[in-house]
Amino acid sequence: MTDIDNASSSSAAASASESAAPSLIVGIDLGTTNSLIGAMDSGFPILLADAEGRRLTPSVVHFPGGDEEPLVGAPAKRVRGIRPKDTISSIKRFMGRRGSEITDEDAIVTYNVKGSGNEPVLVEVHGKSYSPEQISANILTKLKKDAEARLEQPVSRAVITVPAYFNDTQRNATKKAGQLAGLHVERIINEPTAAALAYGLDKLKERSRVAVYDLGGGTFDISILELNEGVFQVISTHGNTRLGGDDIDTVLAEELARRLATKMRMDISIALLARLREEAEVAKIRLSEEESVEVSIPFVRDGESFSTQVTRDQLDLLARPIVERTRANCLRALADAKLKPEDLNEVILVGGQTRMPLVRNIVRDIFKREPNTSANPDEAVAVGATIQAGILMGGIRNMVLLDVTPLSLGIETFGGLMNIIIPRNTTIPTKAGEMFTTAVDYQKSMSIHVVQGERELVKDNFSLGKFELEFERAPKGVPRVGVQFSIDADGILSVLARDIKTGKQKVVEIKSVIDVADEEVERMVAESVEHAFDDLAQRQWIETKIKAGTILTETRKAMAQYRHRIVDEDVAEIDLRVARLEAALEGEVLAELKAAVQSLDEATQPLATVILDEALESGLNGGN
Ligand code: AMP
Repeated sequence: MTDIDNASSSSAAASASESAAPSLIVGIDLGTTNSLIGAMDSGFPILLADAEGRRLTPSVVHFPGGDEEPLVGAPAKRVRGIRPKDTISSIKRFMGRRGSEITDEDAIVTYNVKGSGNEPVLVEVHGKSYSPEQISANILTKLKKDAEARLEQPVSRAVITVPAYFNDTQRNATKKAGQLAGLHVERIINEPTAAALAYGLDKLKERSRVAVYDLGGGTFDISILELNEGVFQVISTHGNTRLGGDDIDTVLAEELARRLATKMRMDISIALLARLREEAEVAKIRLSEEESVEVSIPFVRDGESFSTQVTRDQLDLLARPIVERTRANCLRALADAKLKPEDLNEVILVGGQTRMPLVRNIVRDIFKREPNTSANPDEAVAVGATIQAGILMGGIRNMVLLDVTPLSLGIETFGGLMNIIIPRNTTIPTKAGEMFTTAVDYQKSMSIHVVQGERELVKDNFSLGKFELEFERAPKGVPRVGVQFSIDADGILSVLARDIKTGKQKVVEIKSVIDVADEEVERMVAESVEHAFDDLAQRQWIETKIKAGTILTETRKAMAQYRHRIVDEDVAEIDLRVARLEAALEGEVLAELKAAVQSLDEATQPLATVILDEALESGLNGGN
């Protein structure tokens, strides 16, 4: 039996919990070529279409000049061909970069980039300078605004993804871009980690290793992750910031230009080459599904059109040397992680270009296993960011529960009942407290038993530790002991217990309360649902039994002293109801026990009056 009773009368002074209802958090993939935004809807990650009706918003910003607002997304991409100098794409390459870090390769962008030495890079358009953060903020502002329109509610909190190789400055620049767009950036997470979450790989066994092969429009990244204690760690990462689907479009466009020049005996203008590039990308995408496609360019010259057939084999021949360049990066990433392909548990594909069958064949050959293609490769990162946002909001269970308490935490109170101090799914760090008192006269110490779990009875939950707090002896209900739980960002729980009268206190640290196996959490939650009725009945029975015990003790004490001061009928009635309550305690019917407590309480009214009179009398006498 325990010796703590919750002093509900003093609960007003007790709670220190500050958590408010969580507002919506969105997940954002701020990509080099395209960006996406998503939100959890009834437990599912949903990606939101932009104002143009597309989930993939081109990461392109066009400045029309003068006071006109910049165009962002598809409308900006449309004018890129005709206004290249005023249209910013691939700004992600310059995030958090200094002048000295700009390479000749970066300098080939169509707009004006300046900055030297240690100065941060700036983009110049219409004589005005913009930081990469500001341009990224334009993209984020559009994503936020369009998401607000879809969701019909304000969006002010976000999780944003970055490449695993981004350094602190680049991550901070991304955070700053979020702030400039009016978003509180709750978390910056690695793109490969987000992708692994979207593929559901957090359900793998401990220490599973996953390779994330990400080939997008303009960049290639390979990361090797290890799942440790429910969290993915990037153990190695390599890549090429100048390799992607765009290169394949370029070689196919050059091939088309050759064919057109030969067939029509004409020079290829820059404008025509731009048209060929667009057609090349369309053909490339169709060739992921079809074996052969026809490329047609109407009105090339004086009403003459051009058309040619391109087969998948022909495309593969052109694209192979480009895709093969990813092999060296993959082998280096494996070597850095000190792993052989056989050591991997999964290889997942990210980035639109990995839909190409040739890419899948090369990945299979490098890693000697079938790549996992169960998720949509160009949406996986955004879906993962959205899942992470859901986890932070506390709405998702059984996932990487790093940031919420997986199970409720509390202490044991009188009767072996669990008294919850921090409920399950509370975002950490957090702090909460409550005031307790004693249930037995002249106790000299209180035992604090820290418990974790969802069941009403302590015996069905996990015990995390126990300690004693000594205090001055006093009648029951008089001592006041404050118990405060605080969990830091690492999930370490500190329990502080203080005797309010003397200020005497004890602090005990309990290691990682978030480190609970998923199966344990699942089992505990399932059991709490299954036993909800029984548990509640047991709690009510115990609480009523405690009440019955108290009223019986008090009645017996008072009857011994004042029996002669009340009329015989009342004495008989009290004796009868005492016997009835004793009998009800032997039985197992809650309703009967409750009724017996109430009926004895009513019958003792004359006794209470006598005690009150006595107290008044002695008070008056004492006053003389
Ligand atoms: P991302 O950067 O992930 O948006 O990937 C964009 C790149 O993927 C572009 O080069 C697209 O042309 C390419 N892409 C998208 N869908 C496909 C597809 N079905 N087959 C081949 N490439 C694709």
